[in-house]
Amino acid sequence: MGIKAIHVYSARLPYREPFRIALGTSIESHNIIVHVITDFEVDGWGEASPSQRITGETPQTVIEALDRIAPKLIGMCPLRIEQDIEAMDKIVAGNTSAKAAIDMALYDILGKVARRPLYRVLGGYRTKVFTDFTLGIKSPEEMAKDAVKAVEHGFKALKVKVGIDPEEDVERVAKIRDAVGSEIAIRIDANQGWTPEQAVKTLRKLERFNVEFAEQPVKADDIEGLAHVRRNSNIPVMADETVHSPRDAMKAIRAEAVDLINIKLMKSGGILNAMKIAAVAEAAEIPCMIGCMGESTLGITAAVHLAAAVKNIQHADLDSDLLLKDDVVAEGKAELKDSFRIPPENPGIGIKSFNPEKLGKPVRIYGDVNAKQY
Ligand SMILES: [Mg+2]
Repeated sequence: MGIKAIHVYSARLPYREPFRIALGTSIESHNIIVHVITDFEVDGWGEASPSQRITGETPQTVIEALDRIAPKLIGMCPLRIEQDIEAMDKIVAGNTSAKAAIDMALYDILGKVARRPLYRVLGGYRTKVFTDFTLGIKSPEEMAKDAVKAVEHGFKALKVKVGIDPEEDVERVAKIRDAVGSEIAIRIDANQGWTPEQAVKTLRKLERFNVEFAEQPVKADDIEGLAHVRRNSNIPVMADETVHSPRDAMKAIRAEAVDLINIKLMKSGGILNAMKIAAVAEAAEIPCMIGCMGESTLGITAAVHLAAAVKNIQHADLDSDLLLKDDVVAEGKAELKDSFRIPPENPGIGIKSFNPEKLGKPVRIYGDVNAKQY
């Protein structure tokens, strides 16, 4: 039982409208999709959505990493996931989005072998996942309008991007709270945009708008700053860019710098390490959220399975596919019902078919050249 071939696809997916956060603006998500084909008639799909600002990766570096990793994986057992990941880590450090794509495909295979949806194989704690909807940075008035639209669409929680200008950021949250009323949960994400002092002052001003938590107020590597904000804020502090790996989680927890941790498959290198982060955090009584970069419904559906499976993943921000104009997946995606994402009940991640014009032809083929293409 081994991996026979790995096919790689490149998909450029434009956003419905430019998506701005404190780190910059995106107009499209250029994702790399992998298809892992075994010699026992089961195959798996995974996706990399690289973010140069967060993991230093681009579509090109993902393909370059796969050029080195994929040939090594041919012939290895897809069910010995920890061994497969160790093999990848020995070849290249970092490159977590590239590794996440492979990891996701291996878990897809695991679910298909078990003939069960992935979330049931991984723990099956819940059957649907409450998610927020993210509002990119615009003027306070425009964001308030976007917030009303999201609530009309059924969302019960909003993640508000801030981190540009502390004064205006307060106005953003004030206008949004005023527009949506008191029943809707509001979280904020500054994406490293504030200094520790700005963060403390701004969070004090935001307290009266009932902000559920504040994500990554300060620079990713400023753990001291993060701890300072946490000590001086009544709004719980969540780490995102500060925590990529289980080791990062341990470091942030030891520094007493976090109340919550945001896990992303693209930062952790996939599901295996995401579960380890959730476990490290659980031991410290730190709840986790699962978020996303610019994944299509393929990567989002994988993350929905993980969020459904694991008790300590108590919050979710799984909405990037909703911000994209096009979708590579045709059937088998996690559906959206009001503020909930529902994992498909098909085996594995559950994707049944792709939109051929969005997926295109493979840009790389590793292993057995006679393996059947999708
Ligand atoms: Mg974030």
